Amino acid sequence: MSPELVLAIINIVLAGIFGAIVGSFTNVCIYRIPEHRTIVKGHSMCMTCGHELGALDLVPIFSWLFLGGKCRYCKTPISSRYIKIESLTALCYMIMAATHLSMFLDPLDPYKNIFPFIELCALFVMINIVIVEMMIMKDTGSSMYVMTSALGIDFLVQILARVLHTLRDTDSESLSSLIGKWGLQIFLGAAIGLLAVAISVILTFGLKSLGKYFHDKDSRALRTSDLFAIALCAVIGAIPSIVAATVYLIARLLIKNGKNVKYLGTFLAAGAAIGYFGYSLLLCFS
Ligand SMILES: [Zn+2]
Repeated sequence: MSPELVLAIINIVLAGIFGAIVGSFTNVCIYRIPEHRTIVKGHSMCMTCGHELGALDLVPIFSWLFLGGKCRYCKTPISSRYIKIESLTALCYMIMAATHLSMFLDPLDPYKNIFPFIELCALFVMINIVIVEMMIMKDTGSSMYVMTSALGIDFLVQILARVLHTLRDTDSESLSSLIGKWGLQIFLGAAIGLLAVAISVILTFGLKSLGKYFHDKDSRALRTSDLFAIALCAVIGAIPSIVAATVYLIARLLIKNGKNVKYLGTFLAAGAAIGYFGYSLLLCFS
């Protein structure tokens, strides 16, 4: 095995461990925030027998597995939500670390690494806010706003990194050609999003009642959601937005204009995440 591969595996494993620990803290947030309790102080205890939990009971993922999903003291089953969130966070962190490997492979070049590092932190924070929000608020639509903002920040950071790189390195592409490329990505992404929205509006409202879509108060949630779908597609660029727009279109046709409109955000966020991270992974390994 090459040293690069060993280093890559070590970093992905470390990201997974870090993710499991953050996932464990996310569980504390989900349980305590709705009860207006502090999330920084206080010991964890069993919710049934009230026994204070020791270090061995609090190892993310493993404690749940070794105790067979039961409290060590009173044997009451513990919700599988804990291990699900811990392993989901660990998995997300590992994928994100895998898509940012160049940063770990060249740790001594701070200039090259500062932007990917900020980007990675933004993605880490984003995934946990989305999880907490979805679990506590039950208003999954807001996950869309969080995802849009985080991907937007990520996008801006990448542009900034490229621009700075161009300014320093005279051999690379000219600034104007880079800006042109990003502009094209935004335009194509927005066009793909707009196409998905237009198709879903025509299929759900029909050409005759288009006015209903544009003016009806009942369609306001749909219009806001559609606007966000187009913005998100523009932000993530052409290829990832094909996935996001397709997922959104399917959800949009299934949900139409009922009370489940708020779930559109979740489908959009999921589609965007799959497209975005899938494409990043593809670029990494090609
Ligand atoms: Zn107990």
